Amino acid sequence: MTTIVLKPKKEEAILRFHPWVFSGAIQKIILDKNNPHAEPQEGELVRIVDFNEKILGVGHYQIGSIAVRLLAFGTDSLHDDFFEQCIRAAYQMRQSINLIRDGNNTYRLVHGEGDFLPGLVIDVYADTAVVQAHSVGMHLCRQTIAQAIVKVVKEVKNVYYKSDDTLPFKAEIEGERTGYLIKEEGKKKEEEGVFWATENGLDFRIDWLRGQKTGFFIDQRENRALLELYAKGKDVLNMFCYTGGFSVYALRGGAKSVDSVDVSEKAIELVNKNIERNFPPSTIAFQAHHAYAKEAFEFMADIKDKYDLIILDPPAFAKHRDAIKNALRGYQRLNAKGIEQIRPGGILFTFSCSQAIDKDMFRLAVFSAAAQVGRKVRILHQLHQPQDHPINIFHPEGEYLKGLVLQVE
Ligand code: SAH
Repeated sequence: MTTIVLKPKKEEAILRFHPWVFSGAIQKIILDKNNPHAEPQEGELVRIVDFNEKILGVGHYQIGSIAVRLLAFGTDSLHDDFFEQCIRAAYQMRQSINLIRDGNNTYRLVHGEGDFLPGLVIDVYADTAVVQAHSVGMHLCRQTIAQAIVKVVKEVKNVYYKSDDTLPFKAEIEGERTGYLIKEEGKKKEEEGVFWATENGLDFRIDWLRGQKTGFFIDQRENRALLELYAKGKDVLNMFCYTGGFSVYALRGGAKSVDSVDVSEKAIELVNKNIERNFPPSTIAFQAHHAYAKEAFEFMADIKDKYDLIILDPPAFAKHRDAIKNALRGYQRLNAKGIEQIRPGGILFTFSCSQAIDKDMFRLAVFSAAAQVGRKVRILHQLHQPQDHPINIFHPEGEYLKGLVLQVE
């Protein structure tokens, strides 16, 4: 096994259970004498030791600024059933907090570092799990992971692997980046990749083959449930609606009207299917809904006093740290449009899912928007990612979704 020796003092973060070794922290790399290569291979399991060669842990090696993602601390080996144990612990945690219940078969089973499995995401939609590897190490373990999922979660019959967007683009890796790892026999071709899953008693059409992320934005579940409580009698704008999650909840909450807007035509098709499935065409809710495939700023050019409740849930404006400044300007501009035009007494649900922008920066951008517009604004709730996207307290980088519920005078 390859040994990675850290520079003096660089062991401190690892001793505090931070699961990453940055490339700059490495003093030297000692290859196993049987290793035929001149350097460690991407995805290889490596041992981490401190300057005095005391064992700190074991993890997946990768070329890049995060050189190792640790899977276990204080040991240099993993149990044979390591993945099964970790996935079982993640499943039991979600069961113990009553997340998996009648009317809710949509949840994140594994959230990377938050479930002590850096580089791995698993989302469950009824009988199908969608696996995303963010590291070459996890890619190499994908078959073991798939077997562990079906062993632990009895309802899951299919495991689909979707890592074309998440694995390092340049990595030379064996095997496909997408495709079924386990597939129920007899599953018909037309059923592949699209079916219905249930969240809080509402049905959503999940397209994990073609959809964004693993097919659905599970991370807004609790925030959508909160929005439902605010929706009664309101005229609602769901901007950046994607599959219309917030819209469906708003309609169940008794909204007077809901307009869903997304630049993607495909997303709008999905919104309409989701609305129709939950509210048949004869219902008032169905008739209260309209969907528009339109660019956000174009749609918001003139919406003065049209809405009592506005949701702004844009894609990540800052994908990297060097994009922060522009992203903050983007959030300010977008929120100014909303705050300026919402009806007096209106409620704004505003979000940022950029990991590089923390909650204080986001709040400052929204503050700047309010100051620019010159209306009185109060914060009613500060929102974040839900319980199935846990943040490992030793890994604050795992916090990414934040939101504010504002009331505008
Ligand atoms: N609120 C959604 C998730 C939003 S994801 C949910 O709860 O599921 C962000 C969405 O913004 C994507 O669907 C993307 O198509 C859309 N989008 C990106 N840029 C846009 C723009 N300039 N105008 C409108 N929509 C945009």
